[in-house]
Amino acid sequence: MGQNRSDTSIQLAAKRRRAERTRCPECRRGSALRTDSDSWNEPDGTTVRVIVTECRWKDTKRCTYSHTRTLRTPPPASNP
Ligand SMILES: [Zn+2]
Repeated sequence: MGQNRSDTSIQLAAKRRRAERTRCPECRRGSALRTDSDSWNEPDGTTVRVIVTECRWKDTKRCTYSHTRTLRTPPPASNP
């Protein structure tokens, strides 16, 4: 009744998708995953990127989910 809803259905759907994407596979809580990443270059030019995804409920020891992904990108060939 004359209420202004700030979220349209499209925004709500996007919100829901975001919550699903960050759902913890271990404890099944939505919006639980957070991602931290770090990257550096190795002496041979390889770019190493480490992406750590963990459940925020890990802080309170209610979950133990943690996943580390390492991406290595070799340096571009300078002399083909
Ligand atoms: Zn969890």
